[in-house]
Amino acid sequence: AKAEGKGRYRRFESWMDHSLAERRALERDLRLAIEHDEIEMYFQPQFACDTLQLTGFEALVRWDHAERGLVPPGVFIPLAEECGLIIQIGRMVLEKSCRLAAAWRPRCPVAVNLSPLQFRDSGFLSLLSSILESTDFPASLLELEVTEGVLIKDEEQALGTLRALKELGVQIALDDFGTGYSGLSYLRSFPFDRIKIDKCFVHAQEHDAGTQTILEAVLAMSKRLNLRVIAEGVETEEQLAMLRMQGCSEVQGFLLGRPMPASEVQAFLMSTMDD
Ligand code: C2E
Ligand code: CA
Ligand code: CA
Ligand code: CA
Repeated sequence: AKAEGKGRYRRFESWMDHSLAERRALERDLRLAIEHDEIEMYFQPQFACDTLQLTGFEALVRWDHAERGLVPPGVFIPLAEECGLIIQIGRMVLEKSCRLAAAWRPRCPVAVNLSPLQFRDSGFLSLLSSILESTDFPASLLELEVTEGVLIKDEEQALGTLRALKELGVQIALDDFGTGYSGLSYLRSFPFDRIKIDKCFVHAQEHDAGTQTILEAVLAMSKRLNLRVIAEGVETEEQLAMLRMQGCSEVQGFLLGRPMPASEVQAFLMSTMDD
């Protein structure tokens, strides 16, 4: 069944290249998926680079389509952003992630991805407060991952929202660092708690001394700015060893743990405590 799921997953990667009619069909299905509660959360573990102790999870959304199988977020998130369904999906993602994580023992940090549209939505802050309250999940254990896409459109407004989020007590991470134009100046101007080094960076530095130098500079500077750094997409022992040597504090990637269904998280938590 696993191999089948994988094949199906691959078939969908080029959905955005499909015809308008097909995209309409997918949009209709996505509306039904929300109604039928087919939107699920998976969780990928994050680890301390030196001790490999579990430090938290990133929540990653999945659409478990009755006939099509698992549709990856790379396909339906852009579609949801295009047709406005992202606000509803984003709300479900936040609510489910907090509700599920509130039941884990021991309690453990969870990072949730935000779409720029969700971040800019006028109801977002009050939505977040009410979710934290109704799920009883501590704000300090919630991290929101934003990309530079939330920053570029209106820096003043973005800064205001980020400050309000800090006041609620949540952590903020800058996702996909190194892929866009995010000048290093962003790191100083906005109240981030940590940055996520994009996987392209992690992969490129193995073969490219220039990338290595940049990464080392980013790590050194983050330390001085008091920013924690997590590298994502760590797939090999070599990449892990390199990041360790460079002083990166946390890692996430297939080498150490794949995204798992919510039903497996509690057992995973227990098994890492035995180590
Ligand atoms: P992202 O936020 O950069 O998430 C990391 C992606 O890298 C995930 O893909 C994860 O499964 C994958 N990954 C983790 N470790 C490795 C590794 O070692 N190697 C490689 N090659 N990949 C790895 P996923 O789950 O397919 O998500 C893709 C993107 O979809 C995410 O990128 C994020 O931009 C978006 N996304 C996922 N969940 C959500 C969500 O709940 N809300 C929003 N707005 N966007 C989401
Ligand atoms: Ca992310
Ligand atoms: Ca990322
Ligand atoms: Ca991304």
